Amino acid sequence: AKSEGRNLYRFFEPGMDAVVQARRALEVDLEAALPRQEFDLHFQPIMNITSGEITGAEALMRWHSPGRGTVAPDDFIPVAEETGLIVPLGEWALRKACAEAASWPPGLRIAVNVSAVQLKSNGFARGVISALAFSGVPAGRLELEITETVLMDESKAVLKTLRQLRELGIRIALDDFGTGYSSLGYLRRFPVDKIKIDRSFIRDMGNRDTAAIVRTIIGLGAELGIVVTAEGVETEAQLDMLRDNGCVEAQGYLIGVPSKPADIQRLLESRATR
Ligand code: C2E
Ligand code: CA
Ligand code: CA
Ligand code: CA
Repeated sequence: AKSEGRNLYRFFEPGMDAVVQARRALEVDLEAALPRQEFDLHFQPIMNITSGEITGAEALMRWHSPGRGTVAPDDFIPVAEETGLIVPLGEWALRKACAEAASWPPGLRIAVNVSAVQLKSNGFARGVISALAFSGVPAGRLELEITETVLMDESKAVLKTLRQLRELGIRIALDDFGTGYSSLGYLRRFPVDKIKIDRSFIRDMGNRDTAAIVRTIIGLGAELGIVVTAEGVETEAQLDMLRDNGCVEAQGYLIGVPSKPADIQRLLESRATR
C-alpha cells in the first residue's frame, strides 16, 4: 500500500503539491483560529432610502491571523464551508452579532450571513433560538441572509427550517440577488422577506441594460411585497437613481463602511436620536 501511495503521489505536478500544502496549512490555521479568538465582526449600516434613517446593520466576519494578517472572508469562508468549520464559526457569529445588537437602540435590525452548510446542519434553528434568547434580542430584529446555494438543493429540510424561522418572526433575505441560475424560480418556491441586489448590478448601473435590470428587480420586489436592498452603493448618482426608482434600502460605502462594534453603536445612536 505504501508503494501504491508513492505512485499515486507522482500524478501530482510539482506545483500542485505546493498548492495542496498551502491549502492544508490554511485549513490548519483556520481550525485553530476559533479557540484562539482570532475572529471578530464588523458591522455595515443599512439605510432606508426614503427617510434617510439607518434601519440596522449587517455583520461581516473578519479574521485577524497572527501569521497571515487580516484575511478576507472570500478567502476563508469557502474553506470553512468545505471543512465544516463554518458550523461552529457561523454559530459564534450569530451569538456575537446578537450580543452586539442587544445594546443598539430598540428596533434596529441585525443581519447575519448564513452559509448553506450551516443552515443544513443539525440544530441550526435551535442555535438561532438560543442566540436570541441569550442576548435578549427579539426575533423580529434578526435577519438571516442566505444565497441561492442554500435553495439549490430543494430539500424538505431546508424549507422546513426556513418556515420555522419565519414563524418565529425572523426575516429571510436573499443575498447577491441576480447572480445565480434561477433567482426568480427560488422567489416562487421559498419564503423570503427581502432581496439584496448584488453589487455588480449597482456598479454597472451606468449601463442602460443593467439599469433596466435594476429597475425590474425593484419593480418585482414592489409587486411581491418584498423589501429590496441595493448593495455596494458608492456614489450619490447611484443612490439618486435607486431613489427615483423606488428602491427601499441601500447599503454601501456611501452610507457607511463596515466598522467595529463601538463605532457602529455610536453611529446608530446618533442617527436614532437625531
Ligand atoms: P456579502 O454578504 O455580499 O457582503 C457584502 C460585501 O461587500 C462585504 O465584503 C462588504 O464589505 C462589501 N461592501 C459593502 N459595501 C461595499 C461597497 O460600497 N463597495 C464594495 N466594493 N464593496 C462593498 P466582505 O466583508 O469582504 O465579505 C465578503 C463576503 O463574505 C460576504 O458577501 C459574505 O458572502 C461572506 N461573509 C462575510 N461574513 C460572513 C459570515 O459571518 N458568515 C458567512 N457565511 N459569510 C460571510
Ligand atoms: Ca450578505
Ligand atoms: Ca451580497
Ligand atoms: Ca457575496
